[in-house]
Amino acid sequence: MSAVADSRLLDSTAAFLDRSVHQAWVGGGPLESDGELLDDIDPATGRLIGRVVTSTTSDGDRAVAAARAAFTRWAKTPPAERSRNLVRLAEAVEADRELLAQLETLDTGKPIREARGDIARALDGLFFYAGCARQIRGETIEIDDRFGVFTLRRPLGVVLAIVPWNVPFVLTICKVGPALASGNAVIVKPAEATPLTALRLAELCAAAGLPDGLLNVLPGSGKSLGSYLVAHPGIDKVTFTGSTAVGIEISRIAAGRVKSVALELGGKSPNIVFADADLDAAGKAAAAAIFYGQGEICSAGSRLLVERSVFDEVVGRVVDHAAALRLGDPFDDATELGSLISNDHLEKVVGAVERAAADGAEVMAGGGRSARPELAAGAFMDATVVGPTRADMEVEREEIFGPVLAAAPFDSEEEAIARANNSVYGLSAAVWTEDSRRGRRLVEALESGVVWVNGYNEFDAAAPFGGVKLSGNTREWSHLAMDSFSQVKTVWERR
Ligand code: NAP
Ligand code: MG
Repeated sequence: MSAVADSRLLDSTAAFLDRSVHQAWVGGGPLESDGELLDDIDPATGRLIGRVVTSTTSDGDRAVAAARAAFTRWAKTPPAERSRNLVRLAEAVEADRELLAQLETLDTGKPIREARGDIARALDGLFFYAGCARQIRGETIEIDDRFGVFTLRRPLGVVLAIVPWNVPFVLTICKVGPALASGNAVIVKPAEATPLTALRLAELCAAAGLPDGLLNVLPGSGKSLGSYLVAHPGIDKVTFTGSTAVGIEISRIAAGRVKSVALELGGKSPNIVFADADLDAAGKAAAAAIFYGQGEICSAGSRLLVERSVFDEVVGRVVDHAAALRLGDPFDDATELGSLISNDHLEKVVGAVERAAADGAEVMAGGGRSARPELAAGAFMDATVVGPTRADMEVEREEIFGPVLAAAPFDSEEEAIARANNSVYGLSAAVWTEDSRRGRRLVEALESGVVWVNGYNEFDAAAPFGGVKLSGNTREWSHLAMDSFSQVKTVWERR
């Protein structure tokens, strides 16, 4: 009998959940630890889905030792063999994709259709990095006839990957994939709320025959375990996705050892619609841009800026889409909007909407917790649209990280650009226009790591992703991620 009785779960998911506790994974197997037990809760139902043994700092020391030993061998493993290992891991993930999707839905409350999309995206990323493992290249540099000069690309050592709760498996793979492909060993510190798919990934590494100690997973608190590992002398690089405040704190800790820290942080992304755009497509995409992932997405299109002459029409379309979204049981294949990560988080999100209303914005759709009695045990929030907002309002400035859209009109291209750039963040942005020259002007003017023209939330393993300003300092995915997990050695060889 599974801990979670649900006929929709695969037998393999039920068996995974049946374990009395979920242990950290270190050196190729589960770790015996005297760490505290933490309840893992399904936010959609409030039910207990498992008990997780949180790792202590001495568990951290053991993981670092295991990873260092594995690194010594892995760094010398030929690229083609590293690639074959990653292909086997990808095949194991592929065979396990429905189980992984079910665990992700239970842990996060996101709709199963989204979780399936997440696993597919992560899987594609693994295959991509399996290929990249064979593309490690240096360069030759012509100086003079005394020396041949060339560069070697070498792995960094042990990478610490700190992952948030919103898209756990994708954000684990986008770090683990290029880190392993480049020849490093990895320790993953998942978010306390969502450790399950990372723990399953560790088991799949073992099943796929990857060397012991290459991927270690330590569930536990960010504040204690996370910061201990960031400072650890046996960690060579930290790659972090999460809030800007924690990213800054991690940089401070890592600076003491001049460690490389890659940061993917928050956003308040502007989605700009001009009157000449395909308004039907723009309205539909604007709704998807904010409500996908319950708005708990760093790149969410949380600010909708619309040319004044079509403001009512476009916002009206978004409000209609918001009202039509199927909110409910994440395990229902038809569900489009699931539960937020917790009731505590929901209260914060609702508080931001209440302050926007008190500040003079109209709540045009949603606004609070779902009133449906069958959803009362979960953290379900109605899709929310507020506006017109002012540039000084919290709901337009701060990352809310929930299904809340702030809509505002603009009168000119210059005003749209200034309003869009009026943010401490610069992760992503979109522009909707049929005028391609205007589109190109906006691409140049927007202070943003990613810009979509007549699209939103398009991602691919081959395309770099990351932000400017307080949104981060790195690019994940693509060949750039490979570069970020290696270092250059320059060789001068007398001729
Ligand atoms: P968070 O509090 O920053 O946590 C992220 C991760 O860092 C978790 O694993 C957390 O552990 C850990 N952590 C917390 N404090 C730490 C410390 N002092 N030292 C080391 N690790 C620490 O963020 P969150 O609330 O989970 O996620 C939401 C935020 O992430 C949003 O602001 C969002 O924009 C951002 N985000 C950005 C991107 C991107 O690609 N740019 C993607 C997704 C999310 P615990 O779980 O134990 O606290
Ligand atoms: Mg959970």
